[in-house]
Amino acid sequence: MRVDVLTIFPEMFSSFLNTSIIKRAREQGRLHVNLVDIRDYARNKHRSVDDYPFGGGPGMVMMAEPIFLAVESLLPQEGAERPPVILMSPQGEVFNQELAAELSREKHLILICGHYEGVDERVRQFLVSREISIGDYVLTGGELPAMVVIDAVTRLLPGVLGDPVGALEDSFAMGLLEYPQYTRPRSFRGMEVPEVLLSGNHEKIRQWRRRQALERTWRRRPDLLAKLSLSPEDRRLLDEIIKNSRENSGKTY
Ligand code: SAM
Repeated sequence: MRVDVLTIFPEMFSSFLNTSIIKRAREQGRLHVNLVDIRDYARNKHRSVDDYPFGGGPGMVMMAEPIFLAVESLLPQEGAERPPVILMSPQGEVFNQELAAELSREKHLILICGHYEGVDERVRQFLVSREISIGDYVLTGGELPAMVVIDAVTRLLPGVLGDPVGALEDSFAMGLLEYPQYTRPRSFRGMEVPEVLLSGNHEKIRQWRRRQALERTWRRRPDLLAKLSLSPEDRRLLDEIIKNSRENSGKTY
């Protein structure tokens, strides 16, 4: 996958791109990130890319022209398939695992990082194909959101994770939060790993993990459960979880 990132702070990406799985994906040629400095497309000698907002008000706004020119320099020839041009924006659709999976099926993405009070509205109206927010809070710039998107998308690209089953079992991948994980030692300061995980019985381990995933999701993110169509086994497990919880909450000690 090729990802073009338009930014006025390309240096922010260097440690992100040169660490861990993202670094390996780049070295293996599965991910190619092209950092484009929006200032290279400024037409004035100070290379400024922002100006005062029409109508007054605080802060500065990123000008349309440098962003249009930068994106146009990256678009394929007329007639060829146009990649999604995505503006990082707190006003966009909220990023989630489903959207990450959708984007991972693209060959090419263009991400635009805003700054200051944001970008000239004509960028939204006439240049971008979608806007993505990483959550209901406001950051100083679109670079961290762009890194979040690249990270979540890259680990879904074929061949990037050593064990692709890991990604399938991650929280959200199956609509549930992931079950608890443990590693050695089996006893740590008197805290034990659940016996079932040491049993070697794969079917029992699968059932235990499924039950844990259902219980966690029910307790922490019932909104996720409401969206799922549960198998008869899940329904039975969930009924048991709810029943146990009611019985325990009624207990007096
Ligand atoms: N005044 C803008 C508004 O209220 O929508 C916020 C501008 S913000 C300070 C500057 C830039 O940071 C935005 O243009 C966007 O690129 C990025 N940004 C900030 N928060 C974001 C979020 N939650 N998700 C995605 N991008 C965000």
